[in-house]
Amino acid sequence: MAHDYRTALNLYIDGERLTVAGRSVHRVINPATGDTLAELPLATAQDLDRALDTAARGYRLWRARPAHDRSRVLAGASQLLRQRIDQIAAVATMEQGKPLVEAKAEVNMAANLFEFYAAEVHRLYGRVLVRPAGTLSRVMKEPVGPVAAFCPWNFPLGNPARKLGAAIGAGCSIILKPAEEAPGSAIEVLNCLLDAGLPKEVASCVFGVPDQVSRHLLASPIIRKVSFTGSVAVGKHLMKLAADGAKRTTMELGGHGPVLVFDDADVDRALDLLVAHKFRNAGQVCISPTRFHVQEGIYERFVKEFSARAAKLAVGNGLEAQHQMGPMANPRRPDAIEGFVANALKVGARIATGGERGGGTNDNGFFFRPTVLADVPLEARVMNEEPFGPIALMRPFKTFDDAIEQANRLPFGLAAYCFTENGRRALLLGDAIESGMIGINTTVVAGADSPFGGVKDSGHGSEDGPEGLRACMVTKAIHQA
Ligand code: NAD
Repeated sequence: MAHDYRTALNLYIDGERLTVAGRSVHRVINPATGDTLAELPLATAQDLDRALDTAARGYRLWRARPAHDRSRVLAGASQLLRQRIDQIAAVATMEQGKPLVEAKAEVNMAANLFEFYAAEVHRLYGRVLVRPAGTLSRVMKEPVGPVAAFCPWNFPLGNPARKLGAAIGAGCSIILKPAEEAPGSAIEVLNCLLDAGLPKEVASCVFGVPDQVSRHLLASPIIRKVSFTGSVAVGKHLMKLAADGAKRTTMELGGHGPVLVFDDADVDRALDLLVAHKFRNAGQVCISPTRFHVQEGIYERFVKEFSARAAKLAVGNGLEAQHQMGPMANPRRPDAIEGFVANALKVGARIATGGERGGGTNDNGFFFRPTVLADVPLEARVMNEEPFGPIALMRPFKTFDDAIEQANRLPFGLAAYCFTENGRRALLLGDAIESGMIGINTTVVAGADSPFGGVKDSGHGSEDGPEGLRACMVTKAIHQA
């Protein structure tokens, strides 16, 4: 089946679609082929001021509307996402690289989240305090105000949906800055909301030079909350900018997912789940399993069988159904993974499979082979920095305490995974691991109804679930006599 890049790349401000005319542009590249898909307009300072003014008006308008209206828009957008799934998924695959089946799952993730929030907005209750007769003390939940939201390129549909859904559900307005590398996906999600009746002032969408856009928006007193998904370094930088205006923040930053596989685990099941989870989106996932600590009795078998399965994965253009892993999203990623591999080999790791570029269907694409490194020393750079690529790192451990020490060794704390058939051990693991999300005998650690977020350097605040909606609200106590 042939696919076209069927989306129009514009800025969207106050109901107007602003084109490249008179603006700098960014070329959007298909990572599977290196071809240019389209040119994206970048916002000027005047455009950003206009978006801020629109957000101020949009907030006044939207916060006054009943929960019913917000619910109807979110439910309608959810239905439209499902109706348009084939077209939207093709846009995401062409600009980001992931296989179509994964892009469709991401459309469904966005639709599920809008559906969940459409129901949850009816439950944004406050409470009444027990006070003497003739007095009334109310605790109210109110929308925080206009939100500035910055999204990365790895989940170009799901991430904008998270940020739009929470802000719109809570009664906020929002200025969305999706990743310039995968802009059409975010525009398609926004279009579903607009087509479902979202007033034009409530959400704007801008692109630009990320540092310029975030400095401009965060300097404005109009913005009351910043939501960011991306690297730890950029997250910390934005937190500093937000502090100047005492703006609230939700930060979903990097991870370095530890996996603890005990020798009583169901190894075949663990392999089935973990190989698929590791190479999903070519490993460019913040909750990707990264450091595999495997108990010594099963270590050699685990490395051998994991590597054999990884080597068999069909890598190529994500638009073609036979491919299980696509290219990396941009040329920076294969460069980074190549550097991590070279450094790990220098300090004593061994390659069990992969370890080099290629394996794809087009020499101009940003492909890297599914890679497994075994016996990786702790001092290897990749054991300490988030690799964000198709690379699994394996080390043996002896005891439960060793495994916990390894899991908690790094400053990250986003997602962790454990495989054991011992119920008591599973219970202790859940308590002992410092991580925002833990999967025990499962790799499913997210869902529309479940909080998604990290601890330590991996950030703070949760997205999704009731927590995601409440993160766009503030609390007010009103005492009346
Ligand atoms: P990067 O850190 O420069 O960019 C990450 C994202 O942040 C991009 O979408 C970018 O547009 C945005 N960004 C960068 N600077 C910004 C700024 N000053 N203001 C607002 N937004 C800004 O580099 P990269 O090469 O895209 O990614 C590098 C690393 O980032 C990856 O290796 C990974 O560790 C991490 N990352 C994490 C996630 C995640 O889901 N948590 C997503 C993408 C990247």
